[in-house]
Amino acid sequence: MALLQISEPGQSLAPHQRRIAVGIDLGTTHSLVAAVRSGVAECLPDAQGRVLLPSVVRYMSASGRQIGYDAQAAQADDPENTIASAKRFMGRGLADIVEPSKLPYRFVQEASPPAGMLALHTVGGVKSPVEVSAEILATLRQRAEDSFNDDIFGAVITVPAYFDDAQRQATKDAAQLAGLNVLRLINEPTAAAIAYGLDNASEGIYAVFDLGGGTFDVSILQLARGVFEVMATGGDSALGGDDYDRALADWVLQKLALPLQSAHDKAVVLQAARRCKERLSASSNAADTVVFSAQLSSSAANLAVSLADFEAATAHLTARTVRVLRKTLRDAKLTNDEVQGVVLVGGSTRMPQIRRAVADFFGREPLTNLNPDEVVALGAAISAHQLAGHRSGQDDLLLLDVIPLSLGIETMGGLVERIVPRNQTIPTAMAQDFTTYQDGQTALALHVLQGERDLVADCRSLARFELRGIPPMAAGAARIRVTFTVDADGLLNVSAKEQRSGVQAQIDVKPSYGLSDAQIAQMLQSSFSTAQVDMQARALVEARVDADRMLLATQSALDADSELLQATERKAIEALMAVLRTTLASTDAATIETATKALANGTEAFAAQRMNHGIQRALAGKNVETL
Ligand code: ADP
Ligand code: MG
Repeated sequence: MALLQISEPGQSLAPHQRRIAVGIDLGTTHSLVAAVRSGVAECLPDAQGRVLLPSVVRYMSASGRQIGYDAQAAQADDPENTIASAKRFMGRGLADIVEPSKLPYRFVQEASPPAGMLALHTVGGVKSPVEVSAEILATLRQRAEDSFNDDIFGAVITVPAYFDDAQRQATKDAAQLAGLNVLRLINEPTAAAIAYGLDNASEGIYAVFDLGGGTFDVSILQLARGVFEVMATGGDSALGGDDYDRALADWVLQKLALPLQSAHDKAVVLQAARRCKERLSASSNAADTVVFSAQLSSSAANLAVSLADFEAATAHLTARTVRVLRKTLRDAKLTNDEVQGVVLVGGSTRMPQIRRAVADFFGREPLTNLNPDEVVALGAAISAHQLAGHRSGQDDLLLLDVIPLSLGIETMGGLVERIVPRNQTIPTAMAQDFTTYQDGQTALALHVLQGERDLVADCRSLARFELRGIPPMAAGAARIRVTFTVDADGLLNVSAKEQRSGVQAQIDVKPSYGLSDAQIAQMLQSSFSTAQVDMQARALVEARVDADRMLLATQSALDADSELLQATERKAIEALMAVLRTTLASTDAATIETATKALANGTEAFAAQRMNHGIQRALAGKNVETL
């Protein structure tokens, strides 16, 4: 986990300082790396000029391996040791895998941590999906370092919106193994929307339709004042172009009445199906044909396939995408025509039947002017560029973000007072006034926290600092304004200023870098499920703080002005104090409140006497003119 970055006040990034941050689309089928160069996001090519890296790793010996195109080419000959679509296995156990027998791999269950996770037996040893993904990420990191001839400061890595905590954590682990500093994980559809500059578009609702090789994601984003809000996400983590390949291969084999024997033949047929499918998507006519051609171990499989054949053989898959689309809109309580723009993402959206299905569903043509394979990486690069502290003139506000978790400070009794609520758009500045608790208090410890829970113990500590040199005043007289400022880069500055004396102190904190998306989700989850508990805990703590304050004030009044009281009066007050002290151990807020109220009532007369006495003292020896 990345450590929280706390920088010295005023120490922001100098303009000449170059921090190279990249965006990485770690795809099931292909992975890409992109970066902002001269203000423009672009995908970085390998030495052969190719931007796509097949997400395939082939293990050949204890240390020998091929990554990318070479590995992909070896898939049919060495299927057991050539791991493709490792993303589908990330953060997963064997039980999660749909029909493992249809895959050529030798799965094993990890016995040692991460126990229960699956791994794959290869000639290079047992490999976890995290290790496989790390090979791909390291290859892309190397590519970026070669392009810039410099080290990479950090990366934004994209994940499907559907990824759960375990899958997101596995992605982070892979990045760490690959020596990458993860600036943030972002959802692929959000990255696509950023790449399209939808944050600059007119306000409204946008849909992102992402059909890749192995996953399908639909996101409904709402754009308001340049800020995205995710209204709904839907999808199917086991639906993609691979399924189209399989459906086409099955159809052809059935037509030719060819049984499949070996893993080798299976791989050859799938590759042939993919080639055929990809060539068919260039067709504009249902009657256009492409020859499906595969050389199997004992025979050849050749068949002319028309676009209409292909569409018919895969119609059930296309219908599934539309069903998911409909359900996602229903969840968001939206009708199709409320969506004012649709973005297509993922190589599989090149298929004519998909474009047609999406256009028919929404009654409008989707946006397709960016390359659907690249759009996610491009958006991630723009996001990474900003997170690395770069600003680009007018584009500054392009990437308005929101505070993922509330920010606040610790108040008496271990409670958190929220100052910036969660989902507040940044940049923002919000302030609240506080006062001192004790007479003559000259310093104040400020503890900055992040989280949704009411108790300090349940939130995440971001920073602590002190405000010193407050002139001694009665409790409650000092007025300390605490201001939280979050700039467009997510840098939080907390300042505290005593308004009368002008003394102040401040601290800079980076609030969002240190928390993973999974941690954020976890913290939100626990705040929802514990709201009731929190309310009771807060009531109890507040009751105790009030009681303490009452006891403290009464004691100092007794110390100062006990001569104003009869012995019996004093005894009565002390008895009330004793009762209140014993109730402090109670876990029932109401009991403590009742005792506090009793002490307040019991000291009312004493307080009035003290006031009169104080006024007499102040007036002694003065006439009206000098007052
Ligand atoms: P992922 O995000 O899962 O890595 P991609 O966005 O790279 O996936 O999409 C890969 C899928 O797109 C593969 O199934 C591939 O066959 C498919 N694809 C790529 N180009 C085309 C094309 N021209 N026509 C149809 N499908 C295509
Ligand atoms: Mg993708």
